[in-house]
Amino acid sequence: MLKADLHCHSNCSDGSLTPQELVLLAKERGLWGLSITDHDTIEAYEKAIPAAKEEGIRLGTGVEFSCEHLGISIHLLGYDFLLTNAGIREFCARHQTRRKERNLAMLKQLNKKGVLIKEEELLLLGKGKTIGRPHIAQLMEKKGYVSSLREAFDKYLAEGKCCYVSGESFSLQETIDVIHQAGGKAFLAHPHLIPKTLSLKEVLRFPLDGIESYYSKMTGDQVKPWLALVQKKGLLFSGGSDFHGSAKPEVSLGASFVTKEIFEKIFEHPVA
Ligand code: AMP
Ligand code: ZN
Ligand code: FE
Ligand code: FE
Repeated sequence: MLKADLHCHSNCSDGSLTPQELVLLAKERGLWGLSITDHDTIEAYEKAIPAAKEEGIRLGTGVEFSCEHLGISIHLLGYDFLLTNAGIREFCARHQTRRKERNLAMLKQLNKKGVLIKEEELLLLGKGKTIGRPHIAQLMEKKGYVSSLREAFDKYLAEGKCCYVSGESFSLQETIDVIHQAGGKAFLAHPHLIPKTLSLKEVLRFPLDGIESYYSKMTGDQVKPWLALVQKKGLLFSGGSDFHGSAKPEVSLGASFVTKEIFEKIFEHPVA
């Protein structure tokens, strides 16, 4: 069976591998296709496209946008959009500005708690990359303020904890519109992680193209209701591991996937 992992992160956001290394790993794992879905950036494609062509890996464009509906954070996967589209590029740039301000606000909160991290230390992690809570957590661990990333989130950074800042947010509708205007398809990411306080029915009122039905290490029983839902709604389904490399070592690339046939339904314009 030819497999494609449609959800993974490079070090252009909070993954640990470079885009080239991700493509090489996909090859090594025997994958046929891939979509790299970094948080709020499409930077990986500049390096991923030549690597995928070199390795003979089919590549479709992807991104994972954070957005909000009724005050609840939702992740949307954008697929098969045009990389050169000005709208999506500008939207990514707005996310970077949002994140810069939000990171500063979280560092300020941490400072009040005696956790001293400077913005420059965050910026050293990489220019032009999506920096977020996982990077702050890494620095907290490195500097000895916490003994694990988990502790950083549990004590300080998780939603509702003392140093969490939601920052400016973009709406579900606006995010779907940006993806559509770039010729892409909008998929609801890891739907099982949406807090129960937001009804799925409320989310499904929006013009989504699909739902991520195979995710990470989900079992067959966990997948079934999502497949039934997409069928009922006439939507597409997607699947992927949400691989982050050493940042999330328990999940391996290809842990979830779709077949070539599904890949070709989602990606009408593969870039490699
Ligand atoms: P951000 O985009 O800056 O809000 O960071 C979100 C990312 O942080 C997610 O994609 C996860 O990888 C990670 N994350 C969120 N909550 C937790 C948690 N409780 N423990 C560990 N990692 C988390
Ligand atoms: Zn992530
Ligand atoms: Fe996500
Ligand atoms: Fe993800």
